[in-house]
Amino acid sequence: MARESKIFLASPHMSDECFEQEYIKQAFDTNWIAPLGPNVDGFEKEVCNYTGANYGVALSAGTAAIHMGLKYLDVKQGDYVFCSSLTFSASANPILYLGAIPVFIDSDYDTWNICPKSLENAFKKYPNPKALITVNLYGQSADYDRIKEVTDRYNVPILEDAAESLGATYKGKQSGTLGNLGVYSFNGNKIITTSGGGMLLVNKLEAAKKIKFWATQSREDLPYYHHKEIGYNYRMSNIVAGIGRGQLRVLDERIAKKKYIYEYYKDAFKDIDEIEMMPTADYGTSNYWLSCITIKRESPVRPKDIIQSLALRNIEARHIWKPLHKQPIFSKYDYFTANDFEESCCENIFNQGLCLPSDTKITDYDLHRVTEVVKGIFSSQLEVGVRNVL
Ligand SMILES: *Cc1c(COP(=O)(O)O)cnc(C)c1O
Repeated sequence: MARESKIFLASPHMSDECFEQEYIKQAFDTNWIAPLGPNVDGFEKEVCNYTGANYGVALSAGTAAIHMGLKYLDVKQGDYVFCSSLTFSASANPILYLGAIPVFIDSDYDTWNICPKSLENAFKKYPNPKALITVNLYGQSADYDRIKEVTDRYNVPILEDAAESLGATYKGKQSGTLGNLGVYSFNGNKIITTSGGGMLLVNKLEAAKKIKFWATQSREDLPYYHHKEIGYNYRMSNIVAGIGRGQLRVLDERIAKKKYIYEYYKDAFKDIDEIEMMPTADYGTSNYWLSCITIKRESPVRPKDIIQSLALRNIEARHIWKPLHKQPIFSKYDYFTANDFEESCCENIFNQGLCLPSDTKITDYDLHRVTEVVKGIFSSQLEVGVRNVL
């Protein structure tokens, strides 16, 4: 049997109009190849125009943006930082870069994001964390009004990890502008990409200046190299920013396609009781970065069965992020849930869920290929059940 073309989970998707190449060509024509330059300034302004953020600082990665954000919030050795557990490790690694101590928080089933009750429980033991890192998982904003109701009482700033949620909204406001600081990622698999990069959003000009200073090796404004503070080489290059400017022009198209993919799956699986789509909260709009499903516990079909069957047909699917409190590197840190569940919410979502191909280049034919495989597994699930027992 001829192997059909690969279907990706999420891959870079440059504009049909080649906008990205125009900006890169300008950079070449003016020899503005070196770090910084007009594309970097332009990209920062254009992201702010799109999102309503006050200031953006373009950096080499979303992870670098989280690192700089925590540093700006004065996170130091021995400080506690609260962080969502159901996320990619990059949300929490910068806590360790700074010698601080992560405390992980469970999600809730309505949003898959930080559960305000679990957060409240964490504050009972640790009333003075330096910051809270919220994550807008798979493109959907956390419930900021409910989260802030808790953090405001303890006067704790929020660093919003919006790496996956550029273009999503919460009560009319853009994700990334909902916390005290916001982070975007332009990594290759995100909704738009610069090939690699990130941005830190801040409210004050002074903050933007300070972060640019740290991210360019903390060079004092003197005719010779003079350093009073530790520096980082974290700025985005002018070439990379050019790709970002082009990509930003098709962000709305990408969101529309991601939503189409989600709706396609939702419709295709509507008669399969064991499948539930990731819930969409009505307080905002998701950017539908990845379409995720969970399989009901009673079903003999396990996420890995689906992932393996799809892989055999050259189709890429993934497990849900494995919760950080379950990761060997983070397992010694505290973790808070709303109740003493046997299996907490994010553990359950990890055990029962998976991410389906959500590539914006995907065709209807390919979506059909995916859904046929999945449907086939459920219609022959007795067989799968038997296989699991054996
Ligand atoms: C991708 C991602 C990051 C890291 O962004 P990079 O640009 O790859 O460094 C951080 N947090 C979350 C939730 C992500 O999905």
